[in-house]
Amino acid sequence: MAIQREQLEADVLIVGAGPAGLACALHLANLIKQHNAEGAKPELSAEQIYVLEKGRDIGAHQLSGAIMNPKALAELVPDFQKTAPLDTPVTDSAALVFTEKSSYRIPITPPPFNNSGNYVISLNKLVKWMGGLVESAGVNLFKEFGGAELIYEGDGIAGVITEDKGLNKNGKPKDNFTPGYELRAKLTVLAEGTRGSLTKQLVAKKKLDNINPQSYGIGIKELWDIQPGKLQPGYVAHTLGWPISTKMYGGGWIYGLSNNRVSIGLVIALEYRDPRFDPHAAFQTWKTHPFVRNILEGGKLVRYGAKSLPYGGWYAMPRNYLDGALIVGDSGSFLDSQRLKGVHLAMKSGMLAAETIFEALKKGDYSGNTLKLYKEKIDKSYIKEELWKVRNFHQSFRNGLLDGLFHSGLQQITGGAGIIDPMRAHEGYEAYRPIFGRPAPERFKGDGKVTFDRLTDVYHSGTRHDEDQPCHLKVEDLNICSTRCVEEFGNPCQYFCPAAVYEMVKEANGPKLKINAANCVHCKTCDIADPYQIIEWVVPEGGGGPNYEGM
Ligand code: SF4
Repeated sequence: MAIQREQLEADVLIVGAGPAGLACALHLANLIKQHNAEGAKPELSAEQIYVLEKGRDIGAHQLSGAIMNPKALAELVPDFQKTAPLDTPVTDSAALVFTEKSSYRIPITPPPFNNSGNYVISLNKLVKWMGGLVESAGVNLFKEFGGAELIYEGDGIAGVITEDKGLNKNGKPKDNFTPGYELRAKLTVLAEGTRGSLTKQLVAKKKLDNINPQSYGIGIKELWDIQPGKLQPGYVAHTLGWPISTKMYGGGWIYGLSNNRVSIGLVIALEYRDPRFDPHAAFQTWKTHPFVRNILEGGKLVRYGAKSLPYGGWYAMPRNYLDGALIVGDSGSFLDSQRLKGVHLAMKSGMLAAETIFEALKKGDYSGNTLKLYKEKIDKSYIKEELWKVRNFHQSFRNGLLDGLFHSGLQQITGGAGIIDPMRAHEGYEAYRPIFGRPAPERFKGDGKVTFDRLTDVYHSGTRHDEDQPCHLKVEDLNICSTRCVEEFGNPCQYFCPAAVYEMVKEANGPKLKINAANCVHCKTCDIADPYQIIEWVVPEGGGGPNYEGM
């Protein structure tokens, strides 16, 4: 039976209230305000901008290190220093090389690790603050609503359908069933963040891919309260080496926040060979390094989280405009993988999208032909300037650290070209090597003081989902999990998921995949790193997922 959906209409619908989506909403509302104040025609209204956020609160799903370059924020909110929750300016930028027992500070910090002029922030707090500004500007912000389906019309997009609420785990309506809304808009902005589920569908359907597929990393983070005097606020260190093998791409971070708080984490490219490599265990092992352990001992874990990030850069940027739609932020590959900075690029992309939308609203023309202005603006902005210089950077490390250093060194002196330009990339999961019957590794347990197992960490992510709802992790063919994947790759989902969602359980007729979907922290790693590409992450009921308070 076809579901009767309530229809709502807006001028602009922004899917995702992260830095990109909110910067787009705020900049557009400001442009509209000025336009109306000048008495220009047609009169426009900020109330006709809708923003959807799938989290239970604005900022609840925002996770990053985070160090922010403030230049986009300064354009968006010129007096931001008066009110923005920036935590602390960076006071020292260190690049550390770890061996198992010792560490070494590179005497002159290489430019990509130099963060002077930047701020250590909580992305959750910043985004919450931005949400307040957006609401004050008259924009309609809807929490606990995810974009479940795109509305295709003609050659483009005419809005989204939000997720149905109140279905039980078999997909049958419960007493509180509410069908998703059909939100129609002249312009839809996809600001879903990394591996956006609607963006993924759209890019595939409309063949918007660039020359390289997107490359991803996984970032795992903990926030700690530490003993006074252990770390100065604004101290920022990036670590290379142990425990990450030179065949892999990744490293750690230690960011000193105010009030004896520290953000620590590890990022690893999702293109490693060992299908049973466990990023969460690698992070916990990294914490046992004497340098990190010394900071954490006597302290207390406050929050945990994980998120994938798009490393692919310029050559993996999908075409970001089409009839009725634009793609911004992490969904559009606006991240500098060399500096691991994306917040300012996400905001800037949102602002350029806002300027493009403003022109389209004035003309009453929402075609791709008008919206290509967005791409032209990107090409003339510092987004291109920054990303073009590192267009081959991440691909250089595909064959390990030494190869990567060689190529990236040459790129540094040739404006990013190096000796191969464009350097091609492959899907990360293609790097897996079969297990050839090797026994499964022991799972990391943690000491309960400095290191933790995944379930303890998930508890600290504040994650919750209504358990009686359809599983939002769709596995196309469970038979592959029980047969081919057991033999060939040893079920990598059990290892790469940082929230212990996937579990192979022994049953009378063989191993079977069990999915603990309620643990999911929405990192999207399974959608990216599954070797058979049969896992699809779709939006669960709005309000579910982590609560990254203070992260
Ligand atoms: Fe991340 Fe997938 Fe695990 Fe959810 S189920 S936490 S999206 S890997």
